[in-house]
Amino acid sequence: MTLEKPHYYWQSLDWAALTKAYPPPGLFETTTGRMSADEMRALQSARFLERVADAWKLPFYRDRWRAVGLEPGDIRSIDDIEKIPVFTSDDLKTAIESAPPFGSHQPGSPEYLSEAHVRILTSGGTTGLPRVTLFDAHALEVQGIQSARAFWAQGLRPSDIIQITYTNSLANAAWCTLQGAFHWIGAIPMTTGSGNVTSSERQLQYAKAWGTTAWFTRAEYLARLTEVARDTGFDLHQLKTRQIHSHIGPDADGTRRKRLEEAWNAPVYDNYGTHEIGEIAFECREKAGMHISEDTVYIEITDIASGKALPLGETGNLIATSLYRSAPPIIRFNMRDLLAVYPREECGCGLCTHKLSNFRGRSDEMVKLRGTNVYPLACMEAVSRDPRANGEYICVVSNEGEGLSLREKFVVRVERKSTDVDAEVFRADMEAALHRDLGVRVDVEIADPGTLAIHTGLGAQNKTKRLLDLRK
Ligand SMILES: [Zn+2]
Repeated sequence: MTLEKPHYYWQSLDWAALTKAYPPPGLFETTTGRMSADEMRALQSARFLERVADAWKLPFYRDRWRAVGLEPGDIRSIDDIEKIPVFTSDDLKTAIESAPPFGSHQPGSPEYLSEAHVRILTSGGTTGLPRVTLFDAHALEVQGIQSARAFWAQGLRPSDIIQITYTNSLANAAWCTLQGAFHWIGAIPMTTGSGNVTSSERQLQYAKAWGTTAWFTRAEYLARLTEVARDTGFDLHQLKTRQIHSHIGPDADGTRRKRLEEAWNAPVYDNYGTHEIGEIAFECREKAGMHISEDTVYIEITDIASGKALPLGETGNLIATSLYRSAPPIIRFNMRDLLAVYPREECGCGLCTHKLSNFRGRSDEMVKLRGTNVYPLACMEAVSRDPRANGEYICVVSNEGEGLSLREKFVVRVERKSTDVDAEVFRADMEAALHRDLGVRVDVEIADPGTLAIHTGLGAQNKTKRLLDLRK
């Protein structure tokens, strides 16, 4: 009989090696945060080849790569990355179904699980089981470092109390944030969770009572807190808020950010992250595009239809390759998120990286309406701009008629701020604004406050749903 021994977390990593390879804030800004383009490319290439070697050991990658004629050794540098087929979350779902419980893309043998120091986290699934991902100590800490780089660049300091309104349950976002702020900056996290865990009224009371100076909050929830403050006569300007770390979403003309910043009297910073790879890009205080954590992730932007690489500055699907994680490796994951990458240049903050545009929508939520591509998230700007709206909306697509007269009906349901708003005038104005923004005429229905949450999942999920697809 073998004698089982506990595994101590502090012994699971070589901490000095970790911080040298993936510098946390305080080191990042003078090292990998401002490497020359050639040095960074060489570092990315070396890490990429290590991850490719990890991936060959797993059936998910081995089978897919062999199917396109690749053999171990064919990929010699990051310049060969386009030879590797991309995958989507649908492929991961299939991989999990074919090799339960964790899937053919991650190591899950009893021997591995007893030896490794791993946790189970998931994507925010809305139907069926959420997508499960294993995180070993290395992956968790690098994700913490990614978040910490973002928070530091946005002004978070050890004296800050940061209120985190993501729930520390299965979803990764809350944990990345907690670890980033706590392990790698030494700020003081306040893990209130989402509105389902701590009501919005209480969130504001705690912020006032305990002196919250920073927030990590989705823009949708920030808007919700703003409304609750207004409805309950709570003065947001009395809080000590210094900065808000957020995921703003589509906001080409900056209206959404401006309204939130005015309401909270503090800067709101945008970030981009994914469940498997963490917070991979972040704004600094310049608010001029998001710095990519290039030593942790390699990003490509490809054309939605052809899958071909797009030039810098053009918007397409974001393909992400993790340069740091082995269990599971993530190589050429088509996120189906629409963004653009901008050239490297020295930023006013001192960092020198490629930058990412703001998030522009989901390519898999695209609806083709009379020949025009319509993205539900593209409706957000018009909704954010209008003071009669409270920010909540959902697009409903359905089929009308039968046979030859079958057509798609696309309706945007928008909540009015209060029942005092004249629904008929508001509807007509909203239709005109959406026609301008989307380039195609859509129908609008005005809904009363609070009636759409059941469809959008606001408060319950870490993600907000903007498309209800009722087509058969
Ligand atoms: Zn910068």
